[in-house]
Amino acid sequence: MNFEELKLNRQLLNAIEEAGYTEPTEIQLKAIPQILAGHDIIGVAQTGTGKTAAYALPILMKIKYAQGHNPRAVIFGPTRELVMQIEIAVKQFAKYTDLRIVALYGGVGTKLQKEHLQKGVDIIIATPGRFLDLYLEEEFVLKEVKTMVLDEADKMMDMGFMPQLRKMLEVIPRKRQNLLFSATMSERVERLTEEFLEYPMKIEVTPQATPATLISQKLYTVPNFKTKIHLLEYLIRKDETVTRAIIFVRTKKSADDIYKFIVRKTTNTCRIIHANKDQNSRINAMDDFKDGSIKILVATDVASRGIDVREVSHVINFDVPIIYDDYIHRIGRTGRANHTGVAITFATEAELYHIHKIEKIIRMPIPVEELPSEVEITETGFEEAQEFARELDFYKKKEDPTYKGAFHEKKRELKTENKSSTFKPGKASKPKVSKANKPQPKAKPQKPKAPKKPK
Ligand code: AMP
Repeated sequence: MNFEELKLNRQLLNAIEEAGYTEPTEIQLKAIPQILAGHDIIGVAQTGTGKTAAYALPILMKIKYAQGHNPRAVIFGPTRELVMQIEIAVKQFAKYTDLRIVALYGGVGTKLQKEHLQKGVDIIIATPGRFLDLYLEEEFVLKEVKTMVLDEADKMMDMGFMPQLRKMLEVIPRKRQNLLFSATMSERVERLTEEFLEYPMKIEVTPQATPATLISQKLYTVPNFKTKIHLLEYLIRKDETVTRAIIFVRTKKSADDIYKFIVRKTTNTCRIIHANKDQNSRINAMDDFKDGSIKILVATDVASRGIDVREVSHVINFDVPIIYDDYIHRIGRTGRANHTGVAITFATEAELYHIHKIEKIIRMPIPVEELPSEVEITETGFEEAQEFARELDFYKKKEDPTYKGAFHEKKRELKTENKSSTFKPGKASKPKVSKANKPQPKAKPQKPKAPKKPK
């Protein structure tokens, strides 16, 4: 089936052709007729499947041309990157219409957004926070909204937007069409759909949470941080297939460190995006990455959803995300729109715990690769080894409160090993080995420190 058979109008068909789409993707084929027929929809689809066009095209088809002053459709996304991305796509499809599309997101001033709203608006695309702020300032009224989209509903819930969503649903007219898209169908999302949707039709394009088949996944088990750095350096410098890569890192601090390392040691065609970077620097970094003037983008998870760049050859997970759905989102940045891609994950012994959980969710094992022989393997320092043991204990105890914990055992083992001289203490990690002839002081019971929660 082609786009013409989906009963879209000429303006849209021309824009679709210009975008280079020759045939609809699976989600578009399944969702567009249902949305045009007025049904509420639950679309279980990851980014990369063409879901934006799947809801944007029928919305544009329905509202056709500029009319009145107030919005008739609102689209919500969890992050400003995603909202900007949706804005680009919707404006591209609406190119041959006079529809007024306004994007509202935080991180930038409200002045310009207000000016756009004051000129009249047909479609608002927004993050929940900024949308509510401007609504409460009475910058727009919602009485004419007929369609509401929640895109990446799972992420919105992960990010704690539930209270805002509830408030929004109170103020948007009840008689409306609801379209909810989510990469995964967790229990929470299921509850959300029960609360907000009316007799929805569920459209699932890939079995739940199965990574796109165009992505080949690889797992390297790496003993420690330093070895991860060596492996990263190897991939960037030596692996010629790495032409455009996104490196995902859990925390902003590690992202900064890794970014600095890459620029110092490998290539300065590298940029970084995370929540502490101001909006302009994030936009510039994305633009440079898109047009190919930089090869490497270092990113944290919050920034990951809106990244839509074709021909990303590699996603490198420098660490394993502990919000497991993020794994699917991270690797979905490659293998987009029929291009193939490689997703490589580095995991320490402690992180393998999370890998097993992720494998359950994606319902497939991630193939393990041998470390390339050129990669230098650094020995694990005392403190890092303790940190891994502590982290593992933390997760195991969370699962099973009766679990005693191997941390103290490990600590003792390590101390004995260190005595037998395999351990080369670094400056910061000198272990205190008690003298054998002294009576051993009783070890104070120590609370395992919880690893930092992801934001
Ligand atoms: P999305 O899942 O909406 O984030 O879209 C992922 C990528 O696929 C974007 O770069 C779209 O421009 C592209 N895309 C969407 N629909 C099609 C299509 N029918 N043919 C080719 N590319 C598409």
